[in-house]
Amino acid sequence: MFYTYIINMTKIKDLTNYIQQVAPLTYQESYDNSGLQTGDPEAVITGVLLTLDCTLAVVEEAISQNCNLIITHHPVIFKPLKKLTGSNEVEQVIIKAIRHQIAIYACHTNLDNVLPGVNAKIAEKIGLVNTSILAPKKGDLLKLITFVPLENTDAVLQALYAAGAGQIGNYKNCSFQSGGTGTFTPNSKAKPFLGKINQAEEVNENRLEVIFPEHLKTAVVEALINTHPYEEVAYDLYRTENQNQEVGAGMVGELPEILSATNFITELKEKMELTAIRHTQLLNKPIRKVAVCGGAGSFLINSALNQQADVFITADLKYHDFFAAENRIILVDIGHYESEVFTKDLFYDIIINNFTNFAVLKSKVNTNPVRYT
Ligand SMILES: [Zn+2]
Repeated sequence: MFYTYIINMTKIKDLTNYIQQVAPLTYQESYDNSGLQTGDPEAVITGVLLTLDCTLAVVEEAISQNCNLIITHHPVIFKPLKKLTGSNEVEQVIIKAIRHQIAIYACHTNLDNVLPGVNAKIAEKIGLVNTSILAPKKGDLLKLITFVPLENTDAVLQALYAAGAGQIGNYKNCSFQSGGTGTFTPNSKAKPFLGKINQAEEVNENRLEVIFPEHLKTAVVEALINTHPYEEVAYDLYRTENQNQEVGAGMVGELPEILSATNFITELKEKMELTAIRHTQLLNKPIRKVAVCGGAGSFLINSALNQQADVFITADLKYHDFFAAENRIILVDIGHYESEVFTKDLFYDIIINNFTNFAVLKSKVNTNPVRYT
């Protein structure tokens, strides 16, 4: 008789690698510091605690709940540290986490910038439909061009597709092929797939073109090299200026039903569980198109105006930012914490749908440093 023991051996790196498939680190902004901040990626996960901010209270909660991995939206180490003496809360958090062998993993602007990310969560809470990225990222898409003998074309293409190349919006397996003649002369050290040493060769080849996002570069090039029959594979990689419609800041969508500005604000407060918000003058025109950006989103006011959104919901707007509305749009500041607190639910769904052999808890600590009276 055989007994099967299911032992949890999921390592921290197994989970963080998976999260990085959803929100690749290459999508984080240049000022950001997402990724593993403390801890051993080889350690086996005992439990995971999800939070918006990693405060001392959150580390204490992780200790008491036997969680050795904290996943936080905001990185605890944001600016470079020159010392670690416990003189402020950031240093105390890191010292305590290391002492208790707790890993801290931050998933910040890379999660803001992906389609199933922070802004999609806000759009879902508000009930927006027909959503798209408000400011798609440029320069993320690479083009691969390679030259393949006719009979090997399909195998190479299928390998490139399997590695994630050839995806454009709602279309997969996108490529372009054109025929031509490849020429080469193998030298005495070569072991050619076709042709003979020191003899000029001409082969009917297909020129293949596919695009893919930068974070798949290693996988796509490996797939090419592994499937292409030639000893030396000729290929070109270019960075394109195209926008990647699936990556970028903010989100814009439509309400399923048109609302008056007053009713929209009332519903917004209910759906996002808000007590107080700041906004520009409510305009006497119906609300249909809504732009959102969790956290500090003033940099997207012009994008929201260009998309002719009726409302832009974000946080951290300064006094002078509000002047940009000019009766063309309603700018709404719902608070940084309030706009992003549901990121804990987002983390939870990403993890729980793929890992079932360790506990995943949402932190009960309210880390919002702002109080309303
Ligand atoms: Zn934030």
